[in-house]
Amino acid sequence: MDILLLGPPGAGKGTQGAIVGKALGLPKFATGDLLRDAVKRGTPLGLEARAEMEAGHLVGDDIILGVVREELGKPEASKGVIFDGVVRTIPQAEGLERILAEKQRKMDAVLFFDVSDEEILARLERRRSIEGRADDDPAAVAIRLRAYREQTAPVLSWYESREGVRRIPAVGTIEEIAARVRRALGK
Ligand code: ADP
Repeated sequence: MDILLLGPPGAGKGTQGAIVGKALGLPKFATGDLLRDAVKRGTPLGLEARAEMEAGHLVGDDIILGVVREELGKPEASKGVIFDGVVRTIPQAEGLERILAEKQRKMDAVLFFDVSDEEILARLERRRSIEGRADDDPAAVAIRLRAYREQTAPVLSWYESREGVRRIPAVGTIEEIAARVRRALGK
């Protein structure tokens, strides 16, 4: 089963993706984690992505789709994947659809984690004080939220007109939200 998680930065996609991935026995694939790891290790991918990430801009579609293709070629991805933050532009949605179709697969469920802007700002500020991520500073957060509104929010309508999108109110305890995710997936 292939499941896409959509929602603004700080919506809890990573936390809930890990829970649902474990429950369904599927690997979670987060482009943000993979890129951060590449930056840390100084790989060619990391060198290419670093400046954009630290500024809060989106990394180019071709780079992302290259990474997606590589990840989906791995044996552990053969039964399905939880895609966390992997699709942030319409060309990425189209590209992922093509890559899945080559494997006779399609996105089986799209979950949208719905959180207000005020809550997002408060969560990212908290995360900054805990994790110290360079892109959680207020200037980069403002840029990330703008990228989300301008480039990623339209992805929601793209999926709405196809697979359909299941909306998850993403404020509450981790357990409450996990239960909503299970219900939305009929599990
Ligand atoms: P968040 O969703 O909280 O912004 P992530 O850890 O998911 O954080 O991503 C961090 C950064 O990695 C993004 O701001 C962006 O620069 C880059 N990134 C991750 N996934 C993508 C993607 N699919 N397309 C473009 N850039 C991406």
